[in-house]
Amino acid sequence: MVARSSLQNEPKISSQLTGKIVLRMKAIKRIFFIILILLLITSCGKPAAGPTPVPTATDTPELPTPTPEATLPEPVTLQLPPPPEHPTLYKLDLIFDYYSHFASVTQQIIYTNKSQQALDELLLLVPPRNFENSYDQYSLSGDRVESFREEGIFTWVKLTSPLQPLELTHINLSFRLYLPEHQGIYGYTNQQANLSDWYPFIPPFDEKDGWLAYPRVVDQDNIIVGESIVNEFSNFEVNLTLTSHPELIEVAASAPAQGADGKYSYRLEKARGFSFSISDSYFEHEIVQDGVTIRSYVFMNEIEQGKQVVDIGARAMKLFGELWYPYQRELVSIVVGDFLHNMEMDGLVMISYGIFDFYNGNPDTDLTIMTPHELSHMWFYGSIGNNHALEPWLDEALATYSEYLYYERHHPDFLDWWWRVRIAKPAPVGYVDSDIWIEGGYTPYRDAVYLQGVKFLHEIRQTVGEGAFFDALKDYAYTNTYRLATRTDFEAAFARHSNADLTPVFTRYFQK
Ligand SMILES: [Zn+2]
Repeated sequence: MVARSSLQNEPKISSQLTGKIVLRMKAIKRIFFIILILLLITSCGKPAAGPTPVPTATDTPELPTPTPEATLPEPVTLQLPPPPEHPTLYKLDLIFDYYSHFASVTQQIIYTNKSQQALDELLLLVPPRNFENSYDQYSLSGDRVESFREEGIFTWVKLTSPLQPLELTHINLSFRLYLPEHQGIYGYTNQQANLSDWYPFIPPFDEKDGWLAYPRVVDQDNIIVGESIVNEFSNFEVNLTLTSHPELIEVAASAPAQGADGKYSYRLEKARGFSFSISDSYFEHEIVQDGVTIRSYVFMNEIEQGKQVVDIGARAMKLFGELWYPYQRELVSIVVGDFLHNMEMDGLVMISYGIFDFYNGNPDTDLTIMTPHELSHMWFYGSIGNNHALEPWLDEALATYSEYLYYERHHPDFLDWWWRVRIAKPAPVGYVDSDIWIEGGYTPYRDAVYLQGVKFLHEIRQTVGEGAFFDALKDYAYTNTYRLATRTDFEAAFARHSNADLTPVFTRYFQK
């Protein structure tokens, strides 16, 4: 996720508008765009003289000298780890009425206790309960379910007997979803319905810390701070039935669909989650590169941009495939969000219509920044996990630095521009290892984790040198695929490729 804006009710151009109204709306949109671009990529408006709870990394060069040749080291021989053992299987049957915005769901969770301790109870997280009256559960049962109790988005399931290590159990649920009218990744607008984090799931269980599950964090401006949800790598078998006018409706999903006429089935393995974006207003465009389909879904206003974003996406996927390892799936979808922020999901990213609408084909635009950012999450989130609540820098700093790597490769003439608008102007402060409970909410969070994260990574690069930097990151990527990586794993990867002392860099940027 990149930026959430409070400009929720700004006007949108409608294709029905004509003449002066369009001009007027364009003028409004231009002003809105300036505000949007400020929100998305430039200054966070932090007063220079204001209180700064954490130090600035003052000795960081404001404008680094770009490596002119930008050559990358030869790939090292690394192998992806085997798939996770005993993954949880989510079987979901979703019957969805697009025009009434409600869904009936039956779900089966097949869960193996992968920990070394017996579990008396299991924890289910039910994210739709973040929205009032959105989740209506009809039944919860299972071969060992004795009872359950609900607290916010948590459902604690008491088992009839403890689930021993490597023992397996089934949980069956049936529920109805009433999608909220909400501009975001869970909810509907008049031209889109988004289902992300729409089903109950079992979070990772850590031997030391227990269930890695946290309520979401909402700041003083009602902006959600970071990602509170941590998922295991799991397998999904999902059926979707569209009940109303399926012939009008297009479905973007985390995996390719089988089926037709409003009845689709999907399988996705080693995945963090399964999401849908559904609309009767999508225009699609796709290309196939190295066996991967890169597909865009946009509204009528963005048909041209929908074609262009696929090219940006293809270049980004190729670059990251080369830097980390080839994308492991056959499809990635880039979907216009009918809202003013951007979000990665597994196999699918959403980029705000505001960013699409103002793309003019030039590299100094938000679409050229955000497409590589979100697609880099197909690695640093989708394949290489981390605890997004406690150590968000492990995906967000790397995703933001991936923007830099994209410009370095494809638009070196704009690399200084990128650094100026993205890093120098916001003049970020804060500790890279901040978590989502950071004081001050979203802006300090973004500055510390994303932007200071870029400066941190760039200093690491300058310290260890080009070859070691890319070797270490590639090693980190391979080694931590299908795992929840930690800072220790990051440091270990660098220790394998460089003798440089990184302590001064960590000391400057990290709190702990
Ligand atoms: Zn991100």
